[in-house]
Amino acid sequence: MSALRLIFLGPPGSGKGTQAQRLAVRLDVVQLSSGDVLRRERAEGTPIGKKAAQYMDAGTLVPDDVITGVMLAGIDKLPAGRGFILDGFPRTVPQAEALTAGLAERRLGLTAVIDFKLDDDEIIRRVSGRRVCVGCGATYNTSFLPPKVADVCDNCGQSLIQRKDDRQDVVMTRLATYRAQTAPLIEYYARGGLLHAVDSARGADAVEAEVLRIVGAAGRPG
Ligand code: AMP
Repeated sequence: MSALRLIFLGPPGSGKGTQAQRLAVRLDVVQLSSGDVLRRERAEGTPIGKKAAQYMDAGTLVPDDVITGVMLAGIDKLPAGRGFILDGFPRTVPQAEALTAGLAERRLGLTAVIDFKLDDDEIIRRVSGRRVCVGCGATYNTSFLPPKVADVCDNCGQSLIQRKDDRQDVVMTRLATYRAQTAPLIEYYARGGLLHAVDSARGADAVEAEVLRIVGAAGRPG
């Protein structure tokens, strides 16, 4: 059976990152999160990280060529035949076109594109409650996925913080950016027959089960 290669699309706070974390384990594939990659580059003070910082803090998108280069390099680092979930990439039509060309060059096909749908009020509620572990990157939510001890990670015991770009003013910019630049990808992938919409307003378990059903892997062990 060929490797699973998935793209997770959706507005900020739609749960695509949480689902990518969970499903990467469940499906034994690698999660490639563009936001996490950029945050790592920033933390390490690399030229890419320095270039990305201003865009990330403003809630706008880093230039297409920067992120496309980083993500294709991430795919190239995977062992041959390893499946992946692209989480947060592509985010514009030029990125999607570059990815289509890059995958074709590498003779890799996509299994499915999952569009996580959520309305704006719920997005704002979820994003403002989101907390992230400074140590392992695990995500929590103060209202519906709280850690066992307030502000402490269940997995590694380090502190939980609110991302700067999860503050309400930046979230509004990120949402507007999503509508203007990322939403057109829904049409792009629908044309290729790869698109599946999932209602993200349901609980995380129900959403996970729906994605598993879509990728035809619900019956897999593990
Ligand atoms: P995320 O964690 O996916 O919300 O990403 C955080 C920030 O990283 C975004 O607001 C953008 O500034 C930047 N970013 C992440 N992925 C991309 C992408 N595919 N294209 C451009 N910028 C991105």
